[in-house]
Amino acid sequence: MAKAEPRPGRNDPCWCGSGKKYKSCHSAQDDKVESFRLKGHMVPRHSQLKTPEQIQGMRDSSVLNMAILDAVGESIHAGMSTQEIDDIVVRLTAEMGGIAAPLNYEGFPKSVCTSVNSQVCHGIPSEKDILRDGDIINVDVSTLYKGYYSDSSRMYIIGGKTDPDRANVVEAAKACRDAGVAAVRPWITLGDVAYEIQKVAKQYGCTIVREIGGHGVGIEFHEEPFVSYVSRPGTELLLVPGFTFTVEPMINAGKHEIYVDQDNNWTVYTEDGRPSAQWESTVLVTEDGCEVLTC
Ligand SMILES: [Zn+2]
Repeated sequence: MAKAEPRPGRNDPCWCGSGKKYKSCHSAQDDKVESFRLKGHMVPRHSQLKTPEQIQGMRDSSVLNMAILDAVGESIHAGMSTQEIDDIVVRLTAEMGGIAAPLNYEGFPKSVCTSVNSQVCHGIPSEKDILRDGDIINVDVSTLYKGYYSDSSRMYIIGGKTDPDRANVVEAAKACRDAGVAAVRPWITLGDVAYEIQKVAKQYGCTIVREIGGHGVGIEFHEEPFVSYVSRPGTELLLVPGFTFTVEPMINAGKHEIYVDQDNNWTVYTEDGRPSAQWESTVLVTEDGCEVLTC
């Protein structure tokens, strides 16, 4: 069990920066968190909970993030290269005063991830990769604006129609993301959220990628913890108001196994070559449920 975090004195300023006395601010919430910790739960540290100012910064960043994906959706078409998607993201992000977070992140060479068909994630935009009718593509946009990160991804079906295997996994991934988001509320765990996603994936006959998942987000692009969508109910981190993370299960049409491209060391593919899809939202745990920051 992790140690209890030091707490301010009752009449000292609250750790959240509200300026209020601790006893009339986060003291009661911390008591509740402590009761879960004593029962053996993993609980978030204060630094993992966003203050009202930080939440507003994330909302502002999210507005840009979603506007960029809206614009991609309006422009995407057969005959276009994935590099052109990168161009759109670069141009719009700069116009709105933001920074595309993926560029140079751990050496990633582009400003957005574009993952087509059997690519699970971390597809690298290229002039050589031309979209064709019936392709399915995940566009994953991560935005830094005035110090705050937002993150979301959507699927696009090129030409609007595709084969049943691809269409099913796109629908499944969206239903899984939506079920995960709908489950988010305080005093349950990340494992409870994952379990709701697992039920939906099963209904669609799809599998969930195990090695890659979601993450905390906001002050950093990727914050603790790693968010698994294959964990068991009642396990993993306790959700507490102010916690922000991504709901982004990667859903495979066939088997869950994946491999990483040996040439670029980034792009992840399904082992069986069948399609994969993903939709991603950034969410905030609130007092009585969740606020969807990106979708
Ligand atoms: Zn407080």
